[in-house]
Amino acid sequence: MHVAVVGAGISGLSAAWRLRRRLGPGVDITVLDQSGRLGGKLATGEVAGVRVEQGAESVLLRDPVVAELAAELGLGALAHPAPLPAGIVAAGATRPVPRGTLLGIPADPSILDSSGPARATPEPPGGPDPLLAPGADVSVGALVRPRYGDEVVDRLVDPLLGGVYAGRADDLSLAVTVPALHAAAQRETTLSAAVRAAQAATPKATGPMFGVPAAGMSALATALAAASGATTRLDAPVRELAPTPAGWRLTIGSTRDPGYLTADAVVLAVPARPAARLLTGFAPAAAAEVGVLDYASIALVTLVLPGDVLPASSGFLVPATEGYAVKAATFVGHKWPHLAAPGVSLARLSLGRYRETRVLQRDDADLAELARADLAAILGTRLPDPVGVRVQRWGGALPQYGPGHVDRIARARAGLAGYPTLALAGAGYDGVGIPVCIRSGFAAADRLAAVAPDPAAPAGVAHAGTAEPAEISTGE
Ligand SMILES: Cc1cc2nc3c(=O)[nH]c(=O)nc-3n(C[C@H](O)[C@H](O)[C@H](O)COP(=O)(O)OP(=O)(O)OC[C@H]3O[C@@H](n4cnc5c(N)ncnc54)[C@H](O)[C@@H]3O)c2cc1C
Repeated sequence: MHVAVVGAGISGLSAAWRLRRRLGPGVDITVLDQSGRLGGKLATGEVAGVRVEQGAESVLLRDPVVAELAAELGLGALAHPAPLPAGIVAAGATRPVPRGTLLGIPADPSILDSSGPARATPEPPGGPDPLLAPGADVSVGALVRPRYGDEVVDRLVDPLLGGVYAGRADDLSLAVTVPALHAAAQRETTLSAAVRAAQAATPKATGPMFGVPAAGMSALATALAAASGATTRLDAPVRELAPTPAGWRLTIGSTRDPGYLTADAVVLAVPARPAARLLTGFAPAAAAEVGVLDYASIALVTLVLPGDVLPASSGFLVPATEGYAVKAATFVGHKWPHLAAPGVSLARLSLGRYRETRVLQRDDADLAELARADLAAILGTRLPDPVGVRVQRWGGALPQYGPGHVDRIARARAGLAGYPTLALAGAGYDGVGIPVCIRSGFAAADRLAAVAPDPAAPAGVAHAGTAEPAEISTGE
């Protein structure tokens, strides 16, 4: 059996690794990516000799899958952040992020006092019915705004959600971004009771909440690829995917000089738009459901500043209402002691919010200067000239899951039920967090493993898939 995995991000690589685990040495796996490197949004790099993460920075450890994988892949123990506070900029000052909330939504709104970034309005009494009808989905803002007031949404929930999705509380699906609250809101009649129930249903963290492989995020991608034993083909954009009587045919490369690859099964682990383009020829309804998903573009500016010039904090978040271009800052050496470099301070600044792309039209030098000016203004200090600057742009970076996303993806997958040798995986479908992407890759591999030929069966026995050998050709 030959499986083609399209997309060498964490989702595709996790699928490749799991396929090897499930099917053993008898499966051929080819991982294809249009870019020249593995990892997708996992990208460890260097600025002025200092290691930095230019994409995803860390992993939420509530799901142990990353720690388990890292140990299994020989990456050693994870590094953890220092227990330093983070702030939210509000009315010109940086205030502590209130503790004990669910993405900024407290069970008891009175805990939000004047020392924090936002005050809540008293919640109106609940009605006879639960907050949400069974299976209904709304935006996070639509649930919270009428119950706790605008300040809580604009100054607290919005920047916390924005730090993950670069999106706004009034646009993002409750079911995807705060699933425990979505479940509780279908049973409870007040927001405070729903938050209490959601928090009670969430297992308490017993150790550090976040971690990262000590060798960096890219190490996870390269180790997965190596352990999967897959053939990797980089600079290999897949332009067409077509079912054949025997399996699948992929068209790769430029229109002038295309190459072809046949496979018995395919994992499609690319973002929603390229996935929709590849699906549209044979599954237009599923393609339409997938292609609805929009993405936010962002840029990360890393500044290496001489001296110890940043406060002893892990960084800050900036609500859109504050008027800065920077939406989040990480003080890398403070937050991640294993990345601290002597004699310099590292600031990782994130710019770009959903539908606010104008700021990203600046050239790199301009963008870096804007980020530095915002940082200095927020800290209320002059900053030295950086000794190193890196601007990393991520066009179409972060999926903006609108209300109804979960149902749309369920419909898309149902629309592909007639193709049991095709599986979707990735952030465009199942969620943005790295553990979720890994699980999504695993689920895709499990779907294909379930229809793989039985290795114990005599050769030539019919199965879902094909006995045709994997074949790579160009210029057909
Ligand atoms: C700046 C940034 C910071 C983040 N920080 C965190 C964090 O700290 N923690 C966290 O959990 N998550 C974080 N995320 C989110 C997380 O990194 C992503 O959700 C996750 O890495 C997505 O993985 P993926 O494999 O689904 O997709 P991707 O990483 O997007 O991989 C998809 C791959 O498909 C390839 N591709 C696309 N089209 C084609 C085609 N036609 N043919 C061949 N290849 C194709 C692309 O080149 C890409 O390599 C962050 C994201 C960004 C952008």
